[in-house]
Amino acid sequence: MIRVLRRIRWPGWVLIIFIAITFFYISGSMIGANSQAVPTTKKVADHKLKETVLHSKQFLVQKDSEVIKSLDRNKKYIALTFDDGPSSDVTPQVLEALEEYDVKATFFMLGSQAKANPSMARAVAKAGHEIGNHTNSHQNLVKLDTYDIKEEFSESARNIEEASGQYPTMSRPPYGKFDKRVEETATALRNSLILWSVDSMDWKTRNAKMINEEILNSVTPGAIVLMHDIHQETADALPELLSALINEGYQFVTVSEILSLSVNVGTGLYYKVNY
Ligand SMILES: [Zn+2]
Repeated sequence: MIRVLRRIRWPGWVLIIFIAITFFYISGSMIGANSQAVPTTKKVADHKLKETVLHSKQFLVQKDSEVIKSLDRNKKYIALTFDDGPSSDVTPQVLEALEEYDVKATFFMLGSQAKANPSMARAVAKAGHEIGNHTNSHQNLVKLDTYDIKEEFSESARNIEEASGQYPTMSRPPYGKFDKRVEETATALRNSLILWSVDSMDWKTRNAKMINEEILNSVTPGAIVLMHDIHQETADALPELLSALINEGYQFVTVSEILSLSVNVGTGLYYKVNY
């Protein structure tokens, strides 16, 4: 062996050293690639997220399992949601229109409004609609400290349950604004955070015709539509909207029902747009 090494002249040594350096460089860069492991890490994170999503949804699936079993997954479903109520003047008109077309919807109530209009909160629950928590006093939760975020949710849940008899199983943060603390608070209450996929813009246009145009132009199967049962124009828009959506083949379900249907098509926990 030593003889062999002695026979190698200096250009040969240069070649051996060059090969050695190249070898270490290649193996070193491979170790580097493995230690970054970007795709693997991402996969693990996605997997964890999916488990959380399914866990939240399983809670919802149990709640309305009979209704969900009867739904045909190949049909078009839509969930109408009404925020900021209940109000003494507009909510009764909304309930009347929904009853006329045999539609079930979801009302994200403010705890303060439910306390102020308990008979309306009860009427919504009695009509078989779903009730969600839209916090107690409609503040931008991201700007509050953690204690106040908890208070906004829990006081509202208490007020809503006292007025309607229904404990809300889902929450919608005002303005769709949330951060990790808001998520954690909702999770601690066993609530899913629900946003929307179609904004009717009723709060902005305050015009029945424009509300319907906005919704009908952007609606897709599985949509969660944001409306407000505090504006007269929203109530005015409803009969025509419901009849147009029925003509288009949509069936109306609550938010928990539409989320449960979404489990199998891989939709995430949140529905959100322009946020
Ligand atoms: Zn709101």
